[in-house]
Amino acid sequence: MRCGNGDSRADVTDGYAGYRSRLVEALQLKGVRDMAVLRAVATVPRHRFLPDTLQHQAYEDAAFPIGNGQTISQPFVQARSCEMLRLTGRERVLEIGTGSGYQTALLAMLAETVFSVERIAELARRAHDVVKEQGFTNVSILHADGTMGWKACAPYDAIVVSAASPDVPNPLVEQLVPGGRMVIPVGSREEQALTLVVRDASGDGYTRESIHDVRFVPLLGEFGFSAQES
Ligand code: SAH
Repeated sequence: MRCGNGDSRADVTDGYAGYRSRLVEALQLKGVRDMAVLRAVATVPRHRFLPDTLQHQAYEDAAFPIGNGQTISQPFVQARSCEMLRLTGRERVLEIGTGSGYQTALLAMLAETVFSVERIAELARRAHDVVKEQGFTNVSILHADGTMGWKACAPYDAIVVSAASPDVPNPLVEQLVPGGRMVIPVGSREEQALTLVVRDASGDGYTRESIHDVRFVPLLGEFGFSAQES
């Protein structure tokens, strides 16, 4: 799985378009405004990223188990995270915590290139297969500890972390371009604040702002929570 490039994908025609439209309406009611984000939610077939037994619930605004003790995040939180990154379609984006690959696919529609890191090999493989099946050619997935970022492909214009971190991992800040934006849930294992981090234009430091209360599974690794205690 490589440092990819290029863009992608055709429109999806399946039996779920009406459900996706209703999900888009629900997200608009909750305050999501970015049209490109709403278009991505209207396009990406979330049911393909869920286990077969849960596909009929795929367009509920809810998190679901995806195996290996992990969850696909709530669409509202994912849409807000994407919105907070203010993507224009030209960015290189790093995602930590590929999980199902659903947010990876949303990002692939919103940015130029997506690099995604997942610590559980089976999830990384499955996400790679479904992202490829959906026709995305601008995504690369790496099986590794994402708290270290993905240095070989850095720097990134934007970073999104999909697991709860005790603090903002330094390697991630260092792999962000000056002025770059990162969205990361920061707090305890039980509850966190979805936090917007903006690296200073000088590259010397960063500002942070708490946006929403959220509950994510823990980010486990060198600059996250300890994997031993989980
Ligand atoms: N955005 C994903 C969220 C999956 S849950 C989705 O909607 O499907 C969070 C994911 O982060 C899990 O798959 C978990 O294995 C992964 N994760 C936890 N710690 C990690 C780390 N240090 N590096 C990479 N991935 C990690």
